[in-house]
Amino acid sequence: MAGRLRGIRRPGAAGRVLRLAAAVAGLASLPAAGVGPGPLPAAVAGPAAPPAAAAGGAPAAPARLDAAASGVADAGPDIVLRLALSEAVPWRAGLLADPPRLVLDFHDLAFAGIDRPGFVASPRVRAMRSGTLAPGWSRLVLELDGPVAIATAGMARAAAAGGATVEVRLVPVAAAAFAAARAAAPPPPAPGAVLPDPAAVALAPKRRQTGAGPLVVVLDPGHGGIDPGAEHEGLREAALILAFAQELRAALEGKGGVRVVLTREDDRFVPLEARTSIARAAGADLLLSLHADALDQGIATGATAYTLAAEASEAAAARLAERHDRADLLAGVDLSGQGDAIAGILMELARAETAPRSERLARHLVTAIGAAGGRLHPRPRQRANFTVLRAPDIPSVLLEVGFMSSPRDLADLTDPARRARLAAGIVAALGAWAVEDAAEAALLRQ
Ligand SMILES: [Zn+2]
Repeated sequence: MAGRLRGIRRPGAAGRVLRLAAAVAGLASLPAAGVGPGPLPAAVAGPAAPPAAAAGGAPAAPARLDAAASGVADAGPDIVLRLALSEAVPWRAGLLADPPRLVLDFHDLAFAGIDRPGFVASPRVRAMRSGTLAPGWSRLVLELDGPVAIATAGMARAAAAGGATVEVRLVPVAAAAFAAARAAAPPPPAPGAVLPDPAAVALAPKRRQTGAGPLVVVLDPGHGGIDPGAEHEGLREAALILAFAQELRAALEGKGGVRVVLTREDDRFVPLEARTSIARAAGADLLLSLHADALDQGIATGATAYTLAAEASEAAAARLAERHDRADLLAGVDLSGQGDAIAGILMELARAETAPRSERLARHLVTAIGAAGGRLHPRPRQRANFTVLRAPDIPSVLLEVGFMSSPRDLADLTDPARRARLAAGIVAALGAWAVEDAAEAALLRQ
Protein backbone atom coordinates (compact mmCIF):
# COMPACT_ATOMS: atom_id res chain seq x y z
CA MET A 1 0.00 0.00 0.00
CA ALA A 2 1.48 3.28 -1.04
CA GLY A 3 1.65 6.19 1.28
CA ARG A 4 2.35 9.80 0.77
CA LEU A 5 5.01 11.83 2.50
CA ARG A 6 4.48 15.47 3.01
CA GLY A 7 7.28 17.87 3.67
CA ILE A 8 7.48 21.28 5.15
CA ARG A 9 10.48 23.31 4.35
CA ARG A 10 11.35 26.09 6.69
CA PRO A 11 12.26 29.41 5.14
CA GLY A 12 15.97 29.83 5.45
CA ALA A 13 16.65 26.19 6.04
CA ALA A 14 19.90 25.04 4.60
CA GLY A 15 19.73 23.94 1.01
CA ARG A 16 18.72 20.43 1.79
CA VAL A 17 16.45 18.94 -0.82
CA LEU A 18 13.45 17.34 0.71
CA ARG A 19 11.58 14.65 -1.04
CA LEU A 20 7.99 15.63 -1.26
CA ALA A 21 5.03 13.47 -2.00
CA ALA A 22 7.19 10.44 -2.47
CA ALA A 23 5.16 7.35 -2.88
CA VAL A 24 6.41 4.62 -0.61
CA ALA A 25 5.46 1.01 -0.49
CA GLY A 26 6.95 0.10 2.83
CA LEU A 27 10.19 0.53 4.67
CA ALA A 28 12.45 -0.80 2.00
CA SER A 29 11.61 1.89 -0.46
CA LEU A 30 11.66 4.88 1.84
CA PRO A 31 13.63 7.65 0.19
CA ALA A 32 17.03 8.06 1.75
CA ALA A 33 16.53 11.74 2.33
CA GLY A 34 12.96 11.27 3.40
CA VAL A 35 11.80 9.79 6.63
CA GLY A 36 15.08 8.01 6.99
CA PRO A 37 16.28 4.62 6.04
CA GLY A 38 16.41 1.64 8.21
CA PRO A 39 14.78 0.72 11.42
CA LEU A 40 14.05 3.25 14.06
CA PRO A 41 16.17 2.70 17.13
CA ALA A 42 13.57 2.29 19.78
CA ALA A 43 14.03 5.02 22.30
CA VAL A 44 10.65 5.16 23.84
CA ALA A 45 7.41 3.52 22.97
CA GLY A 46 3.88 4.02 23.98
CA PRO A 47 1.14 1.64 24.65
CA ALA A 48 -2.08 1.77 23.19
CA ALA A 49 -4.54 2.77 25.47
CA PRO A 50 -7.61 1.05 24.26
CA PRO A 51 -8.67 2.96 21.18
CA ALA A 52 -12.34 3.69 21.30
CA ALA A 53 -13.06 1.54 18.34
CA ALA A 54 -15.59 -0.94 17.28
CA ALA A 55 -15.13 -4.45 18.47
CA GLY A 56 -15.64 -7.18 16.01
CA GLY A 57 -12.76 -6.39 13.72
CA ALA A 58 -14.14 -3.42 11.80
CA PRO A 59 -11.27 -1.05 11.10
CA ALA A 60 -11.57 2.04 13.23
CA ALA A 61 -11.24 5.54 11.90
CA PRO A 62 -7.71 6.77 12.44
CA ALA A 63 -6.99 8.95 15.43
CA ARG A 64 -6.81 12.62 14.53
CA LEU A 65 -4.26 15.26 15.32
CA ASP A 66 -5.61 18.52 16.71
CA ALA A 67 -3.11 20.62 14.79
CA ALA A 68 -4.22 23.92 16.31
CA ALA A 69 -3.42 22.58 19.78
CA SER A 70 -0.14 21.03 18.67
CA GLY A 71 3.27 22.36 17.76
CA VAL A 72 6.98 22.38 18.37
CA ALA A 73 8.71 25.28 20.12
CA ASP A 74 11.82 26.12 22.07
CA ALA A 75 11.69 26.02 25.86
CA GLY A 76 14.94 27.58 26.96
CA PRO A 77 17.70 25.34 25.66
CA ASP A 78 15.21 22.51 25.02
CA ILE A 79 12.89 21.81 22.14
CA VAL A 80 9.42 20.66 23.11
CA LEU A 81 7.00 18.92 20.75
CA ARG A 82 3.39 18.63 21.84
CA LEU A 83 0.77 16.71 19.90
CA ALA A 84 -2.88 16.68 20.88
CA LEU A 85 -4.57 13.51 19.66
CA SER A 86 -8.23 12.57 19.51
CA GLU A 87 -7.39 9.31 21.26
CA ALA A 88 -4.40 7.41 22.60
CA VAL A 89 -2.68 5.21 20.03
CA PRO A 90 0.42 3.01 20.08
CA TRP A 91 3.46 5.13 19.32
CA ARG A 92 7.18 5.36 19.75
CA ALA A 93 9.92 7.92 19.45
CA GLY A 94 13.54 7.62 18.42
CA LEU A 95 16.46 9.48 16.94
CA LEU A 96 18.25 9.09 13.65
CA ALA A 97 21.61 10.56 12.68
CA ASP A 98 23.03 12.37 9.64
CA PRO A 99 21.28 14.71 9.96
CA PRO A 100 19.98 14.50 13.53
CA ARG A 101 16.28 13.70 13.40
CA LEU A 102 13.52 13.03 15.87
CA VAL A 103 11.28 10.29 14.50
CA LEU A 104 7.84 9.49 15.86
CA ASP A 105 5.74 6.56 14.69
CA PHE A 106 2.05 6.33 15.43
CA HIS A 107 -0.44 3.61 14.84
CA ASP A 108 -3.37 4.91 12.80
CA LEU A 109 -2.91 8.64 13.20
CA ALA A 110 -3.98 11.18 10.58
CA PHE A 111 -1.70 14.23 10.45
CA ALA A 112 -4.19 16.53 8.68
CA GLY A 113 -3.49 20.17 9.47
CA ILE A 114 0.05 19.64 10.69
CA ASP A 115 1.35 21.91 7.92
CA ARG A 116 -0.43 24.93 9.39
CA PRO A 117 1.70 28.07 9.63
CA GLY A 118 3.26 28.35 13.04
CA PHE A 119 3.23 24.65 13.84
CA VAL A 120 7.03 24.73 13.85
CA ALA A 121 7.98 27.67 16.07
CA SER A 122 11.50 26.48 16.85
CA PRO A 123 14.20 27.82 14.54
CA ARG A 124 16.21 24.73 15.38
CA VAL A 125 13.80 22.50 13.50
CA ARG A 126 15.07 22.74 9.97
CA ALA A 127 12.37 20.66 8.37
CA MET A 128 9.38 18.54 9.20
CA ARG A 129 7.90 15.66 7.27
CA SER A 130 4.94 13.41 7.89
CA GLY A 131 3.23 10.63 6.08
CA THR A 132 2.32 7.00 5.89
CA LEU A 133 5.16 4.70 6.83
CA ALA A 134 3.49 1.35 6.37
CA PRO A 135 -0.11 0.23 6.35
CA GLY A 136 -1.55 1.34 9.68
CA TRP A 137 1.50 3.35 10.67
CA SER A 138 2.28 7.03 10.27
CA ARG A 139 5.63 8.74 10.78
CA LEU A 140 6.52 12.28 11.77
CA VAL A 141 10.12 13.41 11.31
CA LEU A 142 11.69 16.59 12.67
CA GLU A 143 15.06 17.42 11.21
CA LEU A 144 17.17 19.29 13.74
CA ASP A 145 20.08 21.69 13.50
CA GLY A 146 22.22 19.71 15.93
CA PRO A 147 22.52 16.58 18.04
CA VAL A 148 19.93 16.09 20.77
CA ALA A 149 18.84 13.54 23.31
CA ILE A 150 15.27 12.67 24.26
CA ALA A 151 14.96 14.02 27.78
CA THR A 152 11.38 12.91 28.28
CA ALA A 153 8.73 11.40 26.07
CA GLY A 154 5.29 10.46 27.21
CA MET A 155 1.65 10.15 26.35
CA ALA A 156 -0.90 11.37 28.84
CA ARG A 157 -4.63 11.05 28.81
CA ALA A 158 -6.22 14.43 28.36
CA ALA A 159 -8.78 15.42 30.94
CA ALA A 160 -11.32 15.66 28.15
CA ALA A 161 -12.85 12.32 27.37
CA GLY A 162 -10.87 10.24 25.00
CA GLY A 163 -8.07 12.60 24.11
CA ALA A 164 -4.38 12.12 24.66
CA THR A 165 -1.33 14.35 24.55
CA VAL A 166 2.14 13.37 23.45
CA GLU A 167 5.00 15.47 24.70
CA VAL A 168 8.61 14.96 23.70
CA ARG A 169 11.34 17.15 25.19
CA LEU A 170 14.71 17.25 23.43
CA VAL A 171 17.88 18.54 25.03
CA PRO A 172 20.94 19.57 23.04
CA VAL A 173 23.92 17.30 23.55
CA ALA A 174 27.44 17.11 22.24
CA ALA A 175 27.91 15.20 19.02
CA ALA A 176 29.90 12.55 20.89
CA ALA A 177 27.07 12.01 23.36
CA PHE A 178 24.59 11.70 20.52
CA ALA A 179 26.76 9.13 18.78
CA ALA A 180 27.24 7.21 22.02
CA ALA A 181 23.52 7.16 22.71
CA ARG A 182 22.88 5.90 19.21
CA ALA A 183 25.56 3.24 19.57
CA ALA A 184 24.04 2.13 22.86
CA ALA A 185 20.64 1.67 21.25
CA PRO A 186 19.58 -1.94 20.91
CA PRO A 187 20.47 -3.62 17.62
CA PRO A 188 17.87 -2.95 14.99
CA PRO A 189 15.22 -5.60 14.61
CA ALA A 190 15.30 -7.85 11.60
CA PRO A 191 13.93 -6.40 8.37
CA GLY A 192 10.19 -6.66 8.37
CA ALA A 193 10.08 -6.72 12.16
CA VAL A 194 10.57 -3.02 12.54
CA LEU A 195 6.98 -2.29 13.32
CA PRO A 196 4.40 -4.44 14.97
CA ASP A 197 2.04 -5.86 12.43
CA PRO A 198 -0.90 -3.46 12.41
CA ALA A 199 -3.21 -6.42 12.02
CA ALA A 200 -1.83 -7.88 15.23
CA VAL A 201 -2.38 -4.61 17.00
CA ALA A 202 -5.86 -4.34 15.57
CA LEU A 203 -6.66 -7.81 16.84
CA ALA A 204 -5.33 -7.06 20.28
CA PRO A 205 -7.84 -6.94 23.09
CA LYS A 206 -7.15 -3.29 23.57
CA ARG A 207 -10.26 -2.42 21.68
CA ARG A 208 -12.93 -1.72 24.14
CA GLN A 209 -16.16 -3.64 23.71
CA THR A 210 -19.03 -1.62 22.31
CA GLY A 211 -21.80 -4.16 22.41
CA ALA A 212 -21.51 -4.64 18.64
CA GLY A 213 -19.94 -8.09 18.79
CA PRO A 214 -20.12 -10.99 21.20
CA LEU A 215 -18.78 -10.25 24.65
CA VAL A 216 -15.64 -12.31 25.15
CA VAL A 217 -15.67 -13.58 28.71
CA VAL A 218 -12.63 -15.42 30.04
CA LEU A 219 -13.40 -17.49 33.11
CA ASP A 220 -10.42 -18.49 35.17
CA PRO A 221 -11.04 -21.47 37.44
CA GLY A 222 -8.41 -21.03 40.13
CA HIS A 223 -5.68 -23.56 40.89
CA GLY A 224 -5.51 -27.01 39.26
CA GLY A 225 -3.01 -29.81 38.80
CA ILE A 226 -0.30 -29.78 41.44
CA ASP A 227 -2.09 -26.86 43.10
CA PRO A 228 -5.37 -28.09 44.59
CA GLY A 229 -6.20 -24.75 46.23
CA ALA A 230 -8.14 -24.83 49.47
CA GLU A 231 -9.12 -28.24 50.78
CA HIS A 232 -11.91 -28.94 53.18
CA GLU A 233 -13.54 -32.20 54.19
CA GLY A 234 -12.04 -34.00 51.25
CA LEU A 235 -13.22 -31.39 48.74
CA ARG A 236 -10.68 -29.56 46.63
CA GLU A 237 -11.20 -25.97 45.57
CA ALA A 238 -9.63 -26.69 42.16
CA ALA A 239 -12.26 -29.31 41.32
CA LEU A 240 -15.21 -27.50 42.85
CA ILE A 241 -14.43 -24.27 41.05
CA LEU A 242 -13.75 -25.95 37.69
CA ALA A 243 -17.17 -27.58 37.85
CA PHE A 244 -18.75 -24.24 38.68
CA ALA A 245 -16.88 -22.48 35.86
CA GLN A 246 -18.23 -25.05 33.40
CA GLU A 247 -21.76 -24.52 34.67
CA LEU A 248 -21.31 -20.78 34.46
CA ARG A 249 -20.06 -21.09 30.89
CA ALA A 250 -23.19 -23.02 29.95
CA ALA A 251 -25.36 -20.37 31.62
CA LEU A 252 -23.55 -17.54 29.80
CA GLU A 253 -23.68 -19.27 26.44
CA GLY A 254 -27.34 -20.04 27.00
CA LYS A 255 -28.02 -16.33 27.19
CA GLY A 256 -26.35 -15.63 23.83
CA GLY A 257 -24.13 -12.77 22.70
CA VAL A 258 -21.27 -14.15 24.76
CA ARG A 259 -18.19 -16.13 23.85
CA VAL A 260 -16.67 -17.93 26.82
CA VAL A 261 -13.08 -19.14 27.15
CA LEU A 262 -11.78 -21.03 30.18
CA THR A 263 -8.15 -20.69 31.22
CA ARG A 264 -8.20 -24.41 31.99
CA GLU A 265 -10.66 -27.09 30.94
CA ASP A 266 -9.41 -29.83 33.23
CA ASP A 267 -7.38 -30.51 36.34
CA ARG A 268 -4.11 -29.01 35.18
CA PHE A 269 -1.68 -26.47 36.51
CA VAL A 270 -1.72 -23.12 34.71
CA PRO A 271 0.76 -20.49 35.93
CA LEU A 272 -0.92 -17.31 37.11
CA GLU A 273 0.63 -15.07 34.50
CA ALA A 274 -0.25 -17.56 31.77
CA ARG A 275 -3.88 -17.02 32.74
CA THR A 276 -3.77 -13.36 31.79
CA SER A 277 -1.89 -14.29 28.61
CA ILE A 278 -4.69 -16.72 27.74
CA ALA A 279 -7.20 -13.94 28.33
CA ARG A 280 -5.28 -11.59 26.07
CA ALA A 281 -4.90 -14.19 23.34
CA ALA A 282 -8.64 -14.79 23.50
CA GLY A 283 -9.32 -11.08 23.06
CA ALA A 284 -11.00 -10.95 26.46
CA ASP A 285 -13.42 -8.16 27.18
CA LEU A 286 -13.21 -9.18 30.80
CA LEU A 287 -11.47 -11.73 32.99
CA LEU A 288 -13.31 -13.33 35.88
CA SER A 289 -11.14 -15.46 38.13
CA LEU A 290 -13.13 -17.88 40.30
CA HIS A 291 -12.07 -19.15 43.71
CA ALA A 292 -13.56 -20.58 46.89
CA ASP A 293 -11.67 -19.87 50.05
CA ALA A 294 -11.26 -21.87 53.22
CA LEU A 295 -10.20 -20.46 56.55
CA ASP A 296 -8.82 -22.37 59.50
CA GLN A 297 -10.54 -20.04 61.87
CA GLY A 298 -13.52 -17.75 61.88
CA ILE A 299 -16.94 -18.06 60.38
CA ALA A 300 -16.53 -16.02 57.19
CA THR A 301 -19.25 -16.64 54.64
CA GLY A 302 -20.44 -15.33 51.33
CA ALA A 303 -19.06 -14.12 48.05
CA THR A 304 -16.41 -11.41 47.72
CA ALA A 305 -15.41 -9.55 44.55
CA TYR A 306 -11.76 -8.48 44.51
CA THR A 307 -10.18 -5.90 42.26
CA LEU A 308 -6.50 -5.07 42.12
CA ALA A 309 -5.34 -2.98 45.05
CA ALA A 310 -4.39 0.48 43.85
CA GLU A 311 -1.44 0.64 46.17
CA ALA A 312 -0.19 -2.62 44.73
CA SER A 313 -0.57 -1.74 41.10
CA GLU A 314 2.54 0.37 40.80
CA ALA A 315 4.71 -2.41 42.16
CA ALA A 316 2.82 -4.84 39.97
CA ALA A 317 3.60 -2.73 36.95
CA ALA A 318 7.23 -2.64 37.94
CA ARG A 319 7.36 -6.41 38.20
CA LEU A 320 5.65 -6.80 34.88
CA ALA A 321 8.09 -4.37 33.34
CA GLU A 322 10.99 -6.51 34.49
CA ARG A 323 9.84 -9.37 32.39
CA HIS A 324 10.76 -10.08 28.86
CA ASP A 325 7.28 -10.28 27.47
CA ARG A 326 6.37 -6.68 27.74
CA ALA A 327 5.33 -6.59 24.11
CA ASP A 328 2.83 -9.33 24.90
CA LEU A 329 1.49 -7.29 27.78
CA LEU A 330 1.02 -4.23 25.67
CA ALA A 331 -0.60 -6.03 22.82
CA GLY A 332 2.11 -6.16 20.27
CA VAL A 333 3.58 -2.74 20.73
CA ASP A 334 7.32 -3.07 20.45
CA LEU A 335 8.81 -2.22 23.81
CA SER A 336 12.04 -4.07 23.31
CA GLY A 337 14.93 -2.06 24.56
CA GLN A 338 12.72 0.28 26.50
CA GLY A 339 13.57 1.49 29.93
CA ASP A 340 11.68 -0.27 32.67
CA ALA A 341 10.59 3.05 34.11
CA ILE A 342 8.98 4.02 30.84
CA ALA A 343 7.30 0.67 30.42
CA GLY A 344 5.95 0.95 33.95
CA ILE A 345 4.50 4.36 33.24
CA LEU A 346 2.93 3.07 30.06
CA MET A 347 1.27 0.22 31.87
CA GLU A 348 -0.08 2.63 34.45
CA LEU A 349 -1.58 4.62 31.60
CA ALA A 350 -3.40 1.59 30.27
CA ARG A 351 -4.43 0.64 33.78
CA ALA A 352 -5.87 4.09 34.39
CA GLU A 353 -8.68 3.39 31.95
CA THR A 354 -9.11 -0.23 32.92
CA ALA A 355 -9.28 0.14 36.71
CA PRO A 356 -12.66 1.91 36.85
CA ARG A 357 -14.07 -0.65 34.43
CA SER A 358 -12.94 -3.42 36.76
CA GLU A 359 -14.50 -1.57 39.69
CA ARG A 360 -17.79 -1.38 37.85
CA LEU A 361 -17.64 -5.07 37.05
CA ALA A 362 -17.08 -5.91 40.72
CA ARG A 363 -19.94 -3.65 41.73
CA HIS A 364 -22.32 -5.30 39.27
CA LEU A 365 -21.27 -8.74 40.51
CA VAL A 366 -22.02 -7.89 44.11
CA THR A 367 -25.36 -6.29 43.25
CA ALA A 368 -26.53 -9.07 40.94
CA ILE A 369 -25.39 -11.96 43.13
CA GLY A 370 -27.29 -10.37 46.00
CA ALA A 371 -30.35 -9.83 43.81
CA ALA A 372 -30.24 -13.46 42.67
CA GLY A 373 -30.38 -14.61 46.28
CA GLY A 374 -26.70 -15.50 46.56
CA ARG A 375 -24.93 -15.13 49.85
CA LEU A 376 -22.55 -12.18 50.12
CA HIS A 377 -19.67 -11.57 52.47
CA PRO A 378 -20.31 -8.71 54.94
CA ARG A 379 -17.61 -6.80 53.05
CA PRO A 380 -18.28 -8.04 49.54
CA ARG A 381 -16.03 -5.51 47.74
CA GLN A 382 -12.34 -5.78 48.51
CA ARG A 383 -9.01 -5.11 46.87
CA ALA A 384 -5.89 -7.24 46.84
CA ASN A 385 -2.72 -7.72 44.90
CA PHE A 386 -3.66 -10.84 42.97
CA THR A 387 -1.35 -11.66 40.08
CA VAL A 388 -4.23 -12.73 37.89
CA LEU A 389 -5.76 -9.23 38.15
CA ARG A 390 -2.69 -7.46 36.82
CA ALA A 391 -3.49 -7.28 33.12
CA PRO A 392 -3.26 -3.54 32.52
CA ASP A 393 -5.78 -3.58 29.71
CA ILE A 394 -8.43 -6.17 30.61
CA PRO A 395 -11.09 -5.46 33.21
CA SER A 396 -10.46 -8.16 35.79
CA VAL A 397 -12.19 -9.33 38.94
CA LEU A 398 -11.40 -12.22 41.23
CA LEU A 399 -14.58 -13.64 42.70
CA GLU A 400 -14.39 -15.71 45.84
CA VAL A 401 -17.73 -17.45 45.49
CA GLY A 402 -17.78 -18.46 49.13
CA PHE A 403 -15.92 -20.19 51.92
CA MET A 404 -15.54 -23.93 51.84
CA SER A 405 -14.82 -23.68 55.54
CA SER A 406 -18.33 -22.38 56.18
CA PRO A 407 -20.87 -25.21 56.44
CA ARG A 408 -23.54 -22.94 54.97
CA ASP A 409 -21.37 -21.87 52.04
CA LEU A 410 -20.19 -25.41 51.45
CA ALA A 411 -23.77 -26.58 51.34
CA ASP A 412 -24.50 -23.81 48.81
CA LEU A 413 -21.48 -24.66 46.68
CA THR A 414 -22.31 -28.37 46.55
CA ASP A 415 -26.01 -27.81 45.85
CA PRO A 416 -26.72 -27.59 42.10
CA ALA A 417 -29.77 -25.37 42.63
CA ARG A 418 -27.83 -22.87 44.76
CA ARG A 419 -24.95 -22.90 42.30
CA ALA A 420 -27.37 -22.18 39.46
CA ARG A 421 -28.65 -19.19 41.43
CA LEU A 422 -25.11 -17.92 41.84
CA ALA A 423 -24.43 -18.47 38.14
CA ALA A 424 -27.62 -16.60 37.22
CA GLY A 425 -26.46 -13.68 39.33
CA ILE A 426 -23.09 -13.61 37.58
CA VAL A 427 -24.74 -13.83 34.14
CA ALA A 428 -26.95 -10.86 35.02
CA ALA A 429 -23.96 -8.93 36.35
CA LEU A 430 -21.90 -9.43 33.21
CA GLY A 431 -24.82 -8.41 31.03
CA ALA A 432 -25.47 -5.24 33.02
CA TRP A 433 -21.77 -4.39 33.07
CA ALA A 434 -21.40 -4.87 29.32
CA VAL A 435 -24.28 -2.49 28.61
CA GLU A 436 -22.97 0.19 30.94
CA ASP A 437 -19.39 -0.28 29.73
CA ALA A 438 -20.40 0.01 26.07
CA ALA A 439 -22.47 3.12 26.83
CA GLU A 440 -19.41 4.72 28.41
CA ALA A 441 -17.27 3.74 25.43
CA ALA A 442 -19.80 5.41 23.13
CA LEU A 443 -19.68 8.57 25.25
CA LEU A 444 -15.89 8.60 25.11
CA ARG A 445 -16.00 8.37 21.33
CA GLN A 446 -18.09 11.51 20.97
ZN1 LIG B 1 -8.31 -20.07 45.44
